[in-house]
Amino acid sequence: MVNSIKDEAETGVSLIEVQADSAAEEAGLRVGDRIVEIDGMPMRDYVDFAYAGVAEVMEVSFIRKGKECAVTVVCEADESPGWKIDFGEVMICHCNCIFCFVDQLPPGLRDPLQIKDEDYRQSFFFGTFLTLAGLKGEEYRRIAEQKLSPLYISIHATDAKIRGRLLGIGNAPILPHLKRLIDSGIELHGQIVVVPGYNDGEALEQSLTDLAELYPGLKTLGVVPVGLTKHRDGLPPLRLLTKSETLHTLKSVEKWQQKMLDKHGTRWVFPADEFLRQLELPIPDDDYYEEYWQYGNGVGMMRFLIEEMRETLEAAPDALDKDRKALWVTGAAAFPVLSDLAVELTARYTQLQVDVIEVENQLMGDTVSVANLLGGEDIYEALRLYLEENDADGIDVIYLPPICVNPDKLFLDDWSLRKLRRKVKIPIRVYNSDWNKMIFGKRLRR
Ligand code: SF4
Repeated sequence: MVNSIKDEAETGVSLIEVQADSAAEEAGLRVGDRIVEIDGMPMRDYVDFAYAGVAEVMEVSFIRKGKECAVTVVCEADESPGWKIDFGEVMICHCNCIFCFVDQLPPGLRDPLQIKDEDYRQSFFFGTFLTLAGLKGEEYRRIAEQKLSPLYISIHATDAKIRGRLLGIGNAPILPHLKRLIDSGIELHGQIVVVPGYNDGEALEQSLTDLAELYPGLKTLGVVPVGLTKHRDGLPPLRLLTKSETLHTLKSVEKWQQKMLDKHGTRWVFPADEFLRQLELPIPDDDYYEEYWQYGNGVGMMRFLIEEMRETLEAAPDALDKDRKALWVTGAAAFPVLSDLAVELTARYTQLQVDVIEVENQLMGDTVSVANLLGGEDIYEALRLYLEENDADGIDVIYLPPICVNPDKLFLDDWSLRKLRRKVKIPIRVYNSDWNKMIFGKRLRR
């Protein structure tokens, strides 16, 4: 269901938690109260809450059991009111993209994974991408008024017909919408998902030419390959880029990087790690990725991982306090990098042994190589085979890729982390950017 601003304005925002001894509780607010105004400002959603901020004294109007009420919430300096609000429903997209990943999921995955969201509020808070298709004038005005910046935009092509074919919605011009946002002071980051035969080659070159004109309003652009799973029955026939198409794409990107470096001192456009992997090219230096603006888009993730480990090692002890053996589980994309890091680490720490296990993605198909889209069953099978062929004795821990389970500790295929642990019978952790823990088995004091 699409949440319109009007609906939300009519109903306010529910409190889902009121902490004990908090300012909100002291004022008499309770779970289930629907906040409709703070200091006279209507509360439609979490963006309004964030925009309103926290004042020491707040006049809060709310609805309880159909009755309008009001209280004054008094916070100490730097104290939060002690409430949690319902984030409400996510807005749904108006597109029918030929490469939509949701359409390519295996049947039977849980409902939340099947939501085709397109929510400018989430783009602002979490960096998710928007096509802007169907965004209304009132929403543009709100974005400008509340300065919801930066936003992340799925551009794909500047030619309206090509873009329309990709989005499955007829003509879909993008430049006027980008300009409108930029003119209202919103900073943008864009992405082009390259689909061979649609928006690569000359179409890509035209898009880069048009979009470079929008710098600095369009601050960066990520160019990423289309992702295809094995579940495409009934969907338009698509294929992955060949090596020579990838090379051509990279050459276009590099040409524009050089132009933008010469003119503005920024590379501006960045290729996905996946392109580099396909061509077995070295991973660029840290400087190359500038502020890592396109990190969430699979751009610079490998370099970031390497830098994270090296930074940790700079301040790390010279030796482990005991022998330690670890297994690192990953997908095909990160396998070469993790293998190199394991070699680097074990050369420095002779008491450490690390084996890296590459898991083939049977759930989605072997064209899906990123580690966070692995199912629990595939991970289990890879571990089972490894443990059949190798000595499990002395393995202290198995590390899984980050974000491979949701906050409820469920993999994509509804296997739980608990089930995997029960079957494998070796401690399993999910990597959380703490290299100290991964290397030494504990957090180290800095
Ligand atoms: S915008 Fe396109 S890719 Fe994104 S959810 Fe909608 S249909 Fe899928």
